[in-house]
Amino acid sequence: MQFDHSTDVLVVGSGGGALTTALTASLLGADALVVEKTELYGGTSANSGGNVWIPNSHHTNASPYPDSREKALEYLRASIGNTVPLATLEAFVDAAPAMLKFLEERSHVRFEARGYCDYYPELPGGKPEGYRTHEPVPLHGRHLGGDLVTLRPPHHSLVLLGRYSWTNLEGTALLTQAPGWQWTVVRIMGRYWLDIPGRLRGRRNRYLTMGSALIARLRYSLNDRKIPVWLQSPLVELIVENGRVRGAVVERAGRRMLIEARKGVVMGAGGFEHNREMRERYLPQPTSGDWSASSTGNTGDAIRAGMAIGGAVSLMDHAWWIPVICAPGVDRPWALFAERSSPGQVIVDQRGLRFTNEALPYLECGEAMYRAPGGTAKTIPSFIVFDADFRRKYPLGCFGPGAMFPDSKMPPGWEGTVYFKANSIAELAAKAGIDPAGLAETVRLNNEYARTGKDLEFRRGDSAYDRYYGDARVKPNPCIAPIAKPPYYAVVIRPGDTGTNGGLVTDEYARVLRDSGEPIEGLYAIGNTASCVMGTKYPGAGGTIGPCMTFGFVAAHHALGQPAFGAR
Ligand SMILES: Cc1cc2nc3c(=O)[nH]c(=O)nc-3n(C[C@H](O)[C@H](O)[C@H](O)COP(=O)(O)OP(=O)(O)OC[C@H]3O[C@@H](n4cnc5c(N)ncnc54)[C@H](O)[C@@H]3O)c2cc1C
Repeated sequence: MQFDHSTDVLVVGSGGGALTTALTASLLGADALVVEKTELYGGTSANSGGNVWIPNSHHTNASPYPDSREKALEYLRASIGNTVPLATLEAFVDAAPAMLKFLEERSHVRFEARGYCDYYPELPGGKPEGYRTHEPVPLHGRHLGGDLVTLRPPHHSLVLLGRYSWTNLEGTALLTQAPGWQWTVVRIMGRYWLDIPGRLRGRRNRYLTMGSALIARLRYSLNDRKIPVWLQSPLVELIVENGRVRGAVVERAGRRMLIEARKGVVMGAGGFEHNREMRERYLPQPTSGDWSASSTGNTGDAIRAGMAIGGAVSLMDHAWWIPVICAPGVDRPWALFAERSSPGQVIVDQRGLRFTNEALPYLECGEAMYRAPGGTAKTIPSFIVFDADFRRKYPLGCFGPGAMFPDSKMPPGWEGTVYFKANSIAELAAKAGIDPAGLAETVRLNNEYARTGKDLEFRRGDSAYDRYYGDARVKPNPCIAPIAKPPYYAVVIRPGDTGTNGGLVTDEYARVLRDSGEPIEGLYAIGNTASCVMGTKYPGAGGTIGPCMTFGFVAAHHALGQPAFGAR
């Protein structure tokens, strides 16, 4: 076969896992080529909070709350159950800390562990004090030179006033209004305006944080090693010879190019959340790509390319669910990661009834809209209901705290579509189309729970995770406050996602498997292209990118015939 280009490892996609694969392969002495479909690199990983969940890391073990292999495995077993083979979980627990150390010692990648509690901290092996979630250390954009403009910008949920970048730690301080949060705002804004050369160049914030910092640090490292990243170069299909993947057809500048991958093809090209036909075929209904907060290039291409050569798939009916707020003219929805823990709001269905603990990890809260006992007809859409006090104090998706962002600043036409507002609960219910008796009773119960501190229906505020984003000044329960001060608000929410998480079935080396369980030689899948290595659970913040980078590291080692699991 006549190839147009040849490399050792061909990496499809440019999210956190894909770039980790390319960097690892290069650091192990091989050639790598990254091909990205869109005109921007970074995928949803660049849009994201950039947190990675890595148990038993050198950072965790230098913190006041060290971890161990056994404890991490115990927690994964307890939170995920038996749906994922033990070999995969062991591979993750062994390779994840090795990956972090390897990248930090040999590239510009840097993380710090955060005291962000696991999502199921009360389970065996869980860590309420956190330190398994790691946040990328910010990076100044000048290190990327001309590649700053093609770095996919952060999701608007994660940028203050559409302009100011913040770290996860700063975001938490603002959300929970921790002591001194006003100074945090000053620092965030000061950083932006004091970057005079940046301001002379344009509006883009060059202080890169969260997912931008993660992808920028990886790209900075790739550039040092002269690893090419081809933009606007989608994978079209895989090339197979004698049962082994030998490379791929990639479209570049309108031309089909045959790329040889001497050691393997690693596909980290995201899920299928922006493919309407696949959403309708696989996901629970109703569904819409407009409810997805992820990067729009993710249309399941790599999953279909793998299936076309015999790759098995599983978990195709799953996504990283999250309640979202959609607004006209805004390309992607606001994803409600943490605001649901703030006190003084309830999530209700069209009957005015709660159906979940609002403060649950986002995957569970979003999924509850599909799983509610009354069926989806009453839960899609649902509403977040709150009062004037909540509106004044806390942010919620597109609503900044009303003290700084009054209703008068909301875009015209949003009242009555994105949200409803009224002077009484009965009037609010009538405007939003919620059953008034149900809503009145729900508000009454909420106000009772605010007084006693006990949510007798859904135990909101019982878990350390619920309280992490609660308001510690609110007693006795930091996640529950009365809804009693007019005007009242109801914001329309839907079961959105941050990407799908079903895909190609892989083994503990990230090799794509056939239905028979045999690996397809030369083909690897990671991140949302693979059937999730965490099953249907999200063990802690960073539970998607952490495994994605880890199995990218594993795949590169395996393709190059090197062990990735340390002493194992
Ligand atoms: C606002 C937000 C915050 C989040 N915060 C976190 C967090 O803090 N921690 C965490 O773990 N998760 C977080 N997530 C989820 C996380 O970002 C994703 O699950 C993860 O980034 C997916 O990684 P991936 O590599 O599978 O896909 P992506 O990062 O989306 O990368 C896939 C890339 O492949 C490209 N591609 C698609 N098709 C092709 C093709 N045919 N050829 C070549 N390239 C192709 C896409 O254009 C894209 O660039 C967040 C998500 C959102 C939306």
